[in-house]
Amino acid sequence: MLNIVLFGPPGAGKGTQSTNLIEKYQLVHLSTGDILRSEVANKTSLGLEAKKLMDQGLLVPDDVVIRMIEARVDANRNAKGFIFDGFPRTTKQAEALDELLKKKHTSITMMLALEVDDAELITRLLNRGKDSGRPDDQNKEVISKRIMEYNSKTAPLKNYYTEQGKFHGVKGVGTIEEIFDRLTGVIEMY
Ligand code: AMP
Repeated sequence: MLNIVLFGPPGAGKGTQSTNLIEKYQLVHLSTGDILRSEVANKTSLGLEAKKLMDQGLLVPDDVVIRMIEARVDANRNAKGFIFDGFPRTTKQAEALDELLKKKHTSITMMLALEVDDAELITRLLNRGKDSGRPDDQNKEVISKRIMEYNSKTAPLKNYYTEQGKFHGVKGVGTIEEIFDRLTGVIEMY
């Protein structure tokens, strides 16, 4: 199986690149942000709880997202592989993912990290907010909070995957095609 963690701060381009990667490699796309937004749209009790945190740019509890991922990995037994987008975001989530995949006799193949500086991220997110309707993309303070959450809780995962020899940084600036070529260049080395 080809199991990729697509990593990077909010606005790095994970969603866009995931769409292209799943098409090329026939992978199942698991985005915890997308799953949470659909729970919010459907006004489920989980969605209503999560929305309070998402609107403030804070992470939802580890147990909630771990259960969501577990259910979807279980539901896609015949997948050729997965792209994990926006997950894991904490060390606890990364450990739970390793455990879960181990039970399925597979593992994370690599982490691909899109690298973009903070000033560029804020510009991109505010632009996205004009079209996407995402409330968390429309407020500069919420955007800053999300970047702070990323730097404090998520960025340490770089070390987690580096220790496993699985970390690959990729420059996340340029055209969509240029960035896609950089990502596939790394994948093809495996
Ligand atoms: P995203 O679409 O990945 O930017 O996620 C939007 C929001 O959903 C985040 O700001 C968090 O509030 C929440 N979220 C998404 N994925 C996770 C995760 N793996 N762990 C905790 N919270 C998450």
